[in-house]
Amino acid sequence: MSKLKGKVALVTGASRGIGRGIALRLAQEGAVVAVHYVKNHEAADEVVREIQSNGGTAFKIGADFKSVQGVHELYAALDVSLKERTGGNHFDILVNNAGIGQVATIEETTEQSFDEVFNIHVKAPLFLIQQALPRLRDEGRIINISSVATRIAMPNLLGYSVTKGAINTLTFTLAKQLGAWNITVNAILPGIIDTDMNAAILQDPEGQKFAAGLSAFGRWGQPEDVADVAAFLASPDSRWVTGQLIDTSGGSHL
Ligand code: NAD
Repeated sequence: MSKLKGKVALVTGASRGIGRGIALRLAQEGAVVAVHYVKNHEAADEVVREIQSNGGTAFKIGADFKSVQGVHELYAALDVSLKERTGGNHFDILVNNAGIGQVATIEETTEQSFDEVFNIHVKAPLFLIQQALPRLRDEGRIINISSVATRIAMPNLLGYSVTKGAINTLTFTLAKQLGAWNITVNAILPGIIDTDMNAAILQDPEGQKFAAGLSAFGRWGQPEDVADVAAFLASPDSRWVTGQLIDTSGGSHL
């Protein structure tokens, strides 16, 4: 398996959960992976070590996306790391995965809480893409991690769902423009996945029943279920697929 040999991928929020799964999977396919993290540099080191022990190449980059300043900081650091490794600052695959699980109904949503989820889920990916454009090589890939919460009404995840809806719109809108650059833009819409974001649900027997019952397969998802789809979207095999919102929820939206 080396469909991504010679490619460089940036995966945001890759120190744990779905992002970690995607980073490991892309590295398994031969990509050099920039493992972005926000605070937990030890967890990022662990992911880098795991990739290296499997024969791959990876390095970590820290940045906080609570403001767009974090995006500038990330690219400043990425440029330096890539220059050391490749002599240039170009890469091939951007996975916008970083996100927060915010439980809040319309009554509970505050301007501050909405700004926080909007900055991380919408502003950061938008400016990450904007600044990726001069750096992305031919046949570039942009993969946005959205959510099945944009297909099923979840009133207790209001800001979360609304901002993921914006990511869906960003995905198909940019796909139209960036085809001219030979870049594909797609989104993955996971259902409930076994990550720290869902620890509270998956530790509770009622929550477990709910999570398993949502999908057509009677189980909740694992990061690998999402990572395999990301590997396809990152690969040359997906060259004719763009602007797609790919449900990866085991049919939870049905
Ligand atoms: P997680 O909490 O395990 O990981 C989230 C990642 O985002 C972490 O690596 C974290 O460092 C990063 N992050 C959080 N705040 C950040 C900030 N301020 N700046 C930069 N990075 C930040 O969650 P996960 O389940 O792995 O989620 C990954 C993505 O998948 C998210 O976008 C999430 O919305 C989406 N998603 C998750 C599920 C699920 O059920 N777990 C379902 C649908 C979509």
